[in-house]
Amino acid sequence: ASQATIIQRRSDFSTISSEDLSYFKNILGERGVVQDEETLDAVNTDWMRKYKGTSKLMLQPRTAEEVSQILKYCNSRSLAVVPQGGNTGLVGGSVPAFDEVIVSLSHMSKIISFDKVSSVLVCEAGCILENLITFLDNQGFIMPLDLGAKGSCQIGGNVSTNAGGLRLLRYGSLHGSVLGLEVVLANGTVLDMLSTLRKDNTGYDLKHLFIGSEGSLGIVTKVSILTPPKLSSVNVCFLACKDYESCLKLLLEARRKVGEILSAFEFLDHDAMDLVLKHLEGVRNPFPSSMHNFYVLIETMGSNESYDREKLDAFLLHSMENDLMSDGVVAQDITQASSCWHIREGIPEALMKAGGVYKYDLSIPVEKMYDLVEEMRVRLDASAKVVAYGHLGDGNLHLNISTPQYDDNILAQIEPFVYEWTSKHKGSISAEHGLGLMKANKIHYTKSSETVQLMATIKKQLDPNGILNPYKVLPSSLLTKN
Ligand code: FAD
Repeated sequence: ASQATIIQRRSDFSTISSEDLSYFKNILGERGVVQDEETLDAVNTDWMRKYKGTSKLMLQPRTAEEVSQILKYCNSRSLAVVPQGGNTGLVGGSVPAFDEVIVSLSHMSKIISFDKVSSVLVCEAGCILENLITFLDNQGFIMPLDLGAKGSCQIGGNVSTNAGGLRLLRYGSLHGSVLGLEVVLANGTVLDMLSTLRKDNTGYDLKHLFIGSEGSLGIVTKVSILTPPKLSSVNVCFLACKDYESCLKLLLEARRKVGEILSAFEFLDHDAMDLVLKHLEGVRNPFPSSMHNFYVLIETMGSNESYDREKLDAFLLHSMENDLMSDGVVAQDITQASSCWHIREGIPEALMKAGGVYKYDLSIPVEKMYDLVEEMRVRLDASAKVVAYGHLGDGNLHLNISTPQYDDNILAQIEPFVYEWTSKHKGSISAEHGLGLMKANKIHYTKSSETVQLMATIKKQLDPNGILNPYKVLPSSLLTKN
């Protein structure tokens, strides 16, 4: 099922020689040069077990200087490279398409500084998101992003995919909260853009090129990021709605009534709930007596418990009286709150356990969003389960087609229909996961040809030999050397 089968390995890339290995061992030591089969098998395979490369080499640098030496050498030898963080990416971007050298950031995981007054955290790119969350918690702060993969994904991977996640509604995208980056370019140049300033209008803000470029323009080695304070009063409620229309009305009402403390507004449909209950252990249905068509998870974060609770209760009462929701529970303690979150965050894992899954991560105007899900159900026969959930507050639908196993006939029913539909409704075919290998050739469904051309020009300028994450992000046909 891998898309890699339909692309060709670029013949101008070299293959690893014994001299190359000696060079890498010389700069990284034996420990930094990984060739054992078991480890390579894991890092060649993506989280979904859908994409698999055949790399024979993973390098584990410990400093930006070492990353620089690696890239400079690979560039001069035309050795293709794939940067890898926590390998939780969902579009086949983090694993080699063929035999690219894997450059893992895992050994670059130091926290460099944290300043409470400015609330700016500076750390190395390989820091695992959850470790940063724990570190900040002790300081009375939080990360501006949170996602289900937090236990494995790295901040460098988050920045490189411009990950959205569960808190974007409140704290905005990483284009806003990342203040600075250190990046190593394909030719080994270390770009120091590691500012900790909120404001800096000296010319082009180049860090934005690297936020969301999926390792195709450079390797992120350090990140400076603005962190919000941890607020003492957190409420989580899990609500049931009879139809999609009610979910939308609930969103509007939540913005009006609890907007200033709203920190998440997530939704899932009946089929997503069903899947989680079937495949994840320890998940309890908050409404054991009945299944509902839609569910909404709302989180508020504020600083005054009684004020926040009063507002939330008024919102819930109003929504109940106006028939926007049919049932609801408010978590009474942290355990109940995490049970609610577990349902929402567990969906990707439940989908994995159910068999093959075709994943689409779409931005669509919210009022149209669920039409696509219903149209998809009509197209596919019952053996394919169409499951919808996502960050409703951000207009982001995760459309998943779950099948007993991967099947080209089903895929032909889904694509290009799903991309054409999204394009027709002026949506984006990648809201937050990126393009990776899966959608490199699909970029034109969302971006104009002039825009894609300019992207290719920038890519060629920064990486003339095309060694950084080849076959990903942009159509390979635009990047041939001339
Ligand atoms: P990887 O998967 O290792 O890499 C992702 C891409 O970034 C690749 O192209 C890789 O080459 C590049 N890259 C990685 N590190 C660097 C670096 N230091 N420099 C340059 N390039 C680099 N995503 C969301 O946006 N929102 C969600 O809510 C969300 N939830 C998820 C839930 C689950 C259960 C899972 C498995 C994934 C989820 N994702 C989500 C997708 C994924 O977790 C994110 O894309 C994450 O940011 C990837 O980080 P990573 O460290 O695992 O990167």
